[in-house]
Amino acid sequence: MSKETDSPRLRLAVQKKGRLADDTFDLLAKCGLKVRHGRSRLFARIDELPIDVLLVRDDDIPELVASGAADAGIVGGNVFEEDRLTRDGEGAVIADALGFSRCRLCVAVAKGEAYAGPAYFSGKKVATSYPGLLQSWLEESGVKDAQIVLMHGAHEIAPRLGLADAICDIVSTGATLDTNGLKVADTIYRSEALLIAAPGLDVAKAEMLGALKGRMRGALASQHAKYVMMNAPRSAIPAITAVLPGADSPTILELAGEGDMVAIHSVCNEDVLWEHLAELKSVGASAILVLDIDKMLN
Ligand code: ATP
Ligand code: ZN
Repeated sequence: MSKETDSPRLRLAVQKKGRLADDTFDLLAKCGLKVRHGRSRLFARIDELPIDVLLVRDDDIPELVASGAADAGIVGGNVFEEDRLTRDGEGAVIADALGFSRCRLCVAVAKGEAYAGPAYFSGKKVATSYPGLLQSWLEESGVKDAQIVLMHGAHEIAPRLGLADAICDIVSTGATLDTNGLKVADTIYRSEALLIAAPGLDVAKAEMLGALKGRMRGALASQHAKYVMMNAPRSAIPAITAVLPGADSPTILELAGEGDMVAIHSVCNEDVLWEHLAELKSVGASAILVLDIDKMLN
């Protein structure tokens, strides 16, 4: 028997090609996980951890994970929530929110329409491929008699064709809406990529997922994190700590032969801007250095 069949591998479903795929492969690379493919094939391998990557369409990811065909997946919150709202059986569970591939699901109406709130949709037809999310928003907004027209693409032309009065779709810049004589009326859902897991993973796989999640958190956190160093008089420490964005308690080091002066080192978990540096200077800091952090494990 080969060694490989002894040790279980985590099967991770990701989008093969598309807006989510680029960010997903970037993240895996930042986690030090090089995916070996053939993106055209169904499977790819990660060498550094016992993970097999399943390359699929994003719409299939929630079902693959819910059914246990994949142990985990990376999918847009929009697709995950739509699946959760429209499925019968037990669904996948959210293991982590990943903060990338952010987008919003909006309802849009003709530019000339006066839109004063969700009541507008009473008695109207709305074209969407997100019937679950739209229905739940309409219900929460107290609209009972809107009609949902299911479409799988090219929603923007539905109003012009007389198929619907309005649409509900993912909006990024609004340019497509504009070209089709539409405008955003309301945002009904804000989406980001999610790490999802099969319900009831066994202990070994749950541990592997935990390790993957730890690496992802580290990679995502270090994207914005900076290592900041400066010199300052000891008395300025409280003022400096107050200015540092998203910092834990700093490390204070004596400066040899400099009397009251100390070196202050800190990890900042948010973007460090020029304004912050100017402020640090004004409260007494000098020789300020800001360094990128490659990896971080909290
Ligand atoms: P597939 O062939 O896998 O079905 P698709 O055409 O359905 O691909 P993409 O356009 O690649 O999907 O988008 C995948 C996901 O990326 C979306 O479901 C959404 O979560 C996210 N996303 C981020 N930004 C945008 C955007 N500007 N437009 C559409 N989706 C976006
Ligand atoms: Zn899709």
